[in-house]
Amino acid sequence: MMSFYSRNLRLFLVLMLLSKPQLMLAQNKLIKLGKTQIELKQVLINNKDILFLNIHQDEQTSIDAIQSFAKVIPLNFAYLHHKQTRRVAYQIGKHNFTVDPNRIFTKQGRTNTIETNYKVTIRSKLMAKKLANEIVNLIKNFKVIVTLHNNTDVNYSIKSYLKDGEEAQNTAEVYVNPNMDADDFIYTTEKKFFDYLKRANYNVILQDNNNFVNDGSLSIYCGINQIPYINIEAQLGHYNEQLELIKIVYEMLSRTSYVF
Ligand SMILES: [Zn+2]
Repeated sequence: MMSFYSRNLRLFLVLMLLSKPQLMLAQNKLIKLGKTQIELKQVLINNKDILFLNIHQDEQTSIDAIQSFAKVIPLNFAYLHHKQTRRVAYQIGKHNFTVDPNRIFTKQGRTNTIETNYKVTIRSKLMAKKLANEIVNLIKNFKVIVTLHNNTDVNYSIKSYLKDGEEAQNTAEVYVNPNMDADDFIYTTEKKFFDYLKRANYNVILQDNNNFVNDGSLSIYCGINQIPYINIEAQLGHYNEQLELIKIVYEMLSRTSYVF
């Protein structure tokens, strides 16, 4: 296990040489959902190749890992800032609503994800759509979207994507490296990324872009709209493992001439 994760000084030096000095610009996009204001925080460099994106603010390991990577390699990075919870809460009038911000990118997803102590109103759905639109408006400027997630659910891992698993319907292909933790994996909508990562011996899943379950997640939105998408998923607390996966993805995107 350690040998698998500890190849990396040489690779990191190569990555540093590949990256050019970039002007960095920090921005905070304020999004008003009813009475509630949340922020889409962004650090943008002067290229529009890759956007790294964190959607769940409680997945701190993923935020720590990408921020530490960004200290070495300047990159575009955005995350939602609200109450450090998975779900985004907002208030309309005197009623409270929450959504999972990774379930708002389709109409069906929005309808299913809204929770409230009142009832699901048209306006509450409009606010969920507004949040989705703000994120979509950002990602559509980039050639590749790389999201970062952490999991804690013991039932959810790369094994969920195997035949008879809960996510089997979303899966076109899956490759499991038995020496890696099943909670640490990469998920993509692109066959050529899948093939590269499989050859490199990393846990990887290729989304079925035709027969997926429409849960409103960003991977589904990107699959429908043919936006190249990668999710780097690691167990909460697996900082080194997630950093390793970030490095291999960045290396892949640098080498395949896909964006550079
Ligand atoms: Zn997440």
